[in-house]
Amino acid sequence: TYNFSAGPAVMPASVIAQIQAELPSMQGSGMSIMEISHRSALFDQIINNAEQDLRDLMAIPDNYRVLFFQGGGTLQFTAAPLNLATKHHNIGLLDSGHWASRAAEEARRVDTQVDILASAAATHFTTLPTLTTPVDQTLDYVHLTTNNTIEGTMYTKLPQTGTVPLVADMSSNFLGQTYDVSDFGMIFAGAQKNLGPAGLTIVIVRDDLIGHAQQLPSMLDYQLFADKRSMFNTPPVFAIYAAGLVLKWLKQQGGLTAIQAQNEQKAALLYDFLDQSTLFTNQVKPADRSTMNVPFVTGNPTLDAQVIAGATEQGLLNLKGHRLVGGMRASLYNAMPIAGVQALVDYLATFEKAHTK
Ligand code: PLP
Repeated sequence: TYNFSAGPAVMPASVIAQIQAELPSMQGSGMSIMEISHRSALFDQIINNAEQDLRDLMAIPDNYRVLFFQGGGTLQFTAAPLNLATKHHNIGLLDSGHWASRAAEEARRVDTQVDILASAAATHFTTLPTLTTPVDQTLDYVHLTTNNTIEGTMYTKLPQTGTVPLVADMSSNFLGQTYDVSDFGMIFAGAQKNLGPAGLTIVIVRDDLIGHAQQLPSMLDYQLFADKRSMFNTPPVFAIYAAGLVLKWLKQQGGLTAIQAQNEQKAALLYDFLDQSTLFTNQVKPADRSTMNVPFVTGNPTLDAQVIAGATEQGLLNLKGHRLVGGMRASLYNAMPIAGVQALVDYLATFEKAHTK
């Protein structure tokens, strides 16, 4: 089977096998990873290695802190304004679709003014919003969704915001696309697409941006998490362990440049098919297309349902599009092999032949 789910998503098979082998006893300790103390030397090594491997893979500069949070990407929609929008309580946001709107809603709930700097609503989010005027330099930061999981758009070139820090929700292309960390004030990502099990969220934040908030709940306080090395309370031990294995796997694949090249190749295989198809279409402007999530439709919901049902029978799983847009969506995260994409294209081509004259 091939799992095209948008998340929680496919994990590398070798990592699942390693987890399975190590689950009863972690490094000869007689205890499962789920049973060991987060204060043990064993776990210390696991979390330190995970942080170091992430730093190596993304070339994270020393003046950025790596924090291990819980609460998903969604909690960061609240935590980011509470920690970083402390001067003017006013942020800018690029309206690129559903998850950007969700971020705006949550920021407003904590009394942050959200200025929509550009919106792609007019194209039904089949393009990325781009800035047309210089950014107001008094904004606390600009929120950007680097990859729009539902709409299938992705930034490869970043908007210029002057001295205003960019805060990126990288949930759905974290570690699948290379970015220069120093272009951001903060990056956050839920783990459950390219990194590991749900329950872990990574925050990478520039040192000088934290520690300015007053009276924050402890569990939302970046400075506290930085000071306590993400162990203010019990961290998600299993999820951090599994993420650590995926980071090692990523290094074995040749790092992020190599994985990005593979992702581009996989995505091109599917987009090239869709672009020549007389039945299926992807409506996203080619320059703005995501390598991670590829939505497509036949234009006929009954036929879409048949496509999905037939695919499921052949072991091509979770191709149903998001309920907001319908149709199909193939998510091609790091752990999806090119053979999976080829199997999907072959299936779609066969379906097309059977359903067109
Ligand atoms: N941001 C993006 C881009 C997402 O794709 C998602 C979930 O799919 C979220 C945020 C929300 O993440 P979570 O479910 O981890 O809170």
